[in-house]
Amino acid sequence: MNILETISVQCPSCGEVMELQVDCEEGNQEITEECPVCDRPLTILISISDNGVSSFDIVAD
Ligand SMILES: [Zn+2]
Repeated sequence: MNILETISVQCPSCGEVMELQVDCEEGNQEITEECPVCDRPLTILISISDNGVSSFDIVAD
């Protein structure tokens, strides 16, 4: 599997789509990013399986 995967995350507040790089070797993880358009913090909960990113959820603050 690729160690680094890119996922597209859409800001629930303004609809901006951002790309995030995920290091699959770290396993399940939580990434906090600030939206570059509306400056709201987003938390992305990422589930990693043997094949890489299996799913992710976006939690708006
Ligand atoms: Zn936004």
